[in-house]
Amino acid sequence: MTNIKELDEKFVANTYGRFPIEIVKAKGATVTDSNGKKYIDLGTGIGVTALGQGDKEWLKAVIGQLKKYQHTSNLYYTSPCVLLAEKLVEKTGLKKVFFGNSGAEANECAIKVARKYKEDQGIFGAKIITLKNSFHGRTITTLSATGQDKFHENFLPLTDGFIYVNANDIEEVKKVLETENVAGVLIECVQGEGGVNVLEKDYVTSLYNLCKEKDVLFMVDEVQTGNGRTGTLYAYMNYGILPDVVTTAKGLGGGLPIGACMLGEKVENTLTKGSHGSTFGGNPVCAAGALSIISRLDEKFLEQVKVKSQYVFNALKGADGIESVSGLGLMIGIKTKKPCKEVLDYCMNNGVLVLTAKDKIRLLPPLNISLKELEKGISIIKNACK
Ligand code: PLP
Repeated sequence: MTNIKELDEKFVANTYGRFPIEIVKAKGATVTDSNGKKYIDLGTGIGVTALGQGDKEWLKAVIGQLKKYQHTSNLYYTSPCVLLAEKLVEKTGLKKVFFGNSGAEANECAIKVARKYKEDQGIFGAKIITLKNSFHGRTITTLSATGQDKFHENFLPLTDGFIYVNANDIEEVKKVLETENVAGVLIECVQGEGGVNVLEKDYVTSLYNLCKEKDVLFMVDEVQTGNGRTGTLYAYMNYGILPDVVTTAKGLGGGLPIGACMLGEKVENTLTKGSHGSTFGGNPVCAAGALSIISRLDEKFLEQVKVKSQYVFNALKGADGIESVSGLGLMIGIKTKKPCKEVLDYCMNNGVLVLTAKDKIRLLPPLNISLKELEKGISIIKNACK
């Protein structure tokens, strides 16, 4: 570990504040460090290993595809990406999918789609509304979409054309739409990095109806909330609406890089040949793995996500040292009386990996974690908070 830490500091760009453990193997919801210490993983690599580590079906799909071929290019047809797109369309009611490699790329695609949607109508310079406290990625344009100043510092000038509004304030959006030329609205139904804040139901439905009325694209960033995380396949489904654009990544790939920008009826043909692309987008290995995951996220599976979610909320609400619990499904924020760092360190020392989001402890456990592991993890978190 010492050696790896030193080498990391010497050779890897210094962008991450790493915790002092080196992960050497993992299975299911358990990860093991270089000292042989085991941890219950309630963070899943920030919402990525949705069905845990080394999931059998995922491995079979990925290795099976690797043995056939690992990459061609988007110049040729390949079945994993087509079958994945078909499955996503079937399960969401959206119409077409563009594949990239990350959440930021999925959002870049959504932003391009919104701009082109308006340009195709002869409307130029249309802006995109996003929420304050949102997070949409680290590329310059998705940083610009992100409504948090601290991410903008040192990287000016940003991409033009974003307007930030307060979450849950529909009047503010109405005012903006009266004066500005707007192509789309991009929201997270549950702000993840922003502190696991669930948007109010009335706000989301009013915003959706307003967008429809004004021909403004309603776009939902499901990079973190998607793929079963909130107890429905996508978080927007909790609100009974069908967005024009849905972006996702993280849990979709189960550990391999993939991002998807799903396009509804209004924009299914907005992207045309040559208007967008990606060398790795739709990679057959990543797509085969993703297909094996998304195919299993059926109603029965999602029901057990809801059951576990209820268990966590019941166990944590009102517990000693816990001020409040927020979130949806297995995307959970815990406001603790003690500083987050103290709680996180206690958890890590006692064999539980958790995340933070702003001033909260954040949990994104594997969706198929056993109740026993979850109970153990939660009891350690409760001890940490006391
Ligand atoms: N959008 C949301 C809501 C996210 O939570 C994240 C990452 O945390 C991103 C976009 C960026 O995704 P990526 O890191 O895969 O580019």
